[in-house]
Amino acid sequence: MQELLLQNNLSPSGADLLFWWHYRVKSTHPCTEDLALKTQKFLKENISFDLPTIDKVHESEDRTVKFLFRLSDLYKVETVLLPFNQKYTICLSTQVGCAMNCSFCFTGTQGLTRNLSTDEIVGQFIGAYRWLKKNRPTEAKVLNIVFMGQGEPLHNFDSVKKATEIFLTHRGPALASLRVTISTSGYLPGLKRWTSEMPGVNIALSLHSPFEEKRNKLIPINQRYPLSEVLECLDQIPMKRKQFVTYEYLLIKDFNDGDEDAHATGKLLKEKRAIINLIPFNPFPGSEYQRPAFDRVENFRKILAGYNLPAMIRGTKGDDILAACGQLNTGKLKGEENKNYFLLEASLP
Ligand code: SAH
Ligand code: SF4
Repeated sequence: MQELLLQNNLSPSGADLLFWWHYRVKSTHPCTEDLALKTQKFLKENISFDLPTIDKVHESEDRTVKFLFRLSDLYKVETVLLPFNQKYTICLSTQVGCAMNCSFCFTGTQGLTRNLSTDEIVGQFIGAYRWLKKNRPTEAKVLNIVFMGQGEPLHNFDSVKKATEIFLTHRGPALASLRVTISTSGYLPGLKRWTSEMPGVNIALSLHSPFEEKRNKLIPINQRYPLSEVLECLDQIPMKRKQFVTYEYLLIKDFNDGDEDAHATGKLLKEKRAIINLIPFNPFPGSEYQRPAFDRVENFRKILAGYNLPAMIRGTKGDDILAACGQLNTGKLKGEENKNYFLLEASLP
């Protein structure tokens, strides 16, 4: 903000106020308070304060809110607000589509269209917050941010890093670093930059199998960046006290939900500061996999507990909220809830 003002021969002293005005107050109007007239004029004439437009909103019974945001070039991305005690976790998208082509992921089948810019990432947060403030005024509080929507965040490292810095800034949204989590499929070039460049936020790895071969089938980039190297790199990232790595484990019926998979996962992670998120697979049109029965999921969880590994099962009741980040669920598949048919529309201009 200071640089922007300096570059335009304006006093940098207004930077703090502007940062607060747009990122804390989350105003979408040019700031008029205590700002030199010259600066006000410059902002009005040169800076766009537009946010991504809310194209559609879907509120589920459990109070989850899904937004379809339209970007300035008409591409669309999905953002989700997940309620927790009248506060929210927001799930952000980082790319239109995704290049990683994971075999279980609907986003992945579309390929990568483009990266989101920092303002499009932060814009999802501000847009969703402003919607909350208007529609649920007593609950307008975003407590956690997760980068688990469409796209591979570490494949768009620079924009994600800058957005994260904005989220943590004291004069801005002022989130605590342990309230921000970035999920990756194991994109090693990004992980290698993490320690020296990313502020100390949480990392989540989409593990999905402890076996290289099975992981190759699920996450094709595992052939280029094998799990062993990814884990080695992860282990070197410094952790704060009370900080853990989240390992996401997508459970697919008769593919990676067996006892041997659970035991191998337990052995692989038991010495690590790990928590595990078990995600039952969400089917989508044309997908080759199925969701396991609940007792298989529970069995998997129990085996991990035997290795002293805390595992949570994600989205077991009603609308599968978090896995719904960029995903379709069965209700949508049957066409029962067409208004919920977000992802088919996301990514289309
Ligand atoms: N690209 C990042 C973050 C976005 S995906 C990553 O892959 O980690 C967020 C989570 O949703 C990941 O753990 C991903 O594996 C999971 N996911 C993708 N497709 C899914 C599906 N069909 N059912 C359930 N979870 C899915
Ligand atoms: Fe991309 Fe993540 Fe989907 Fe894989 S699971 S295709 S990395 S969004």
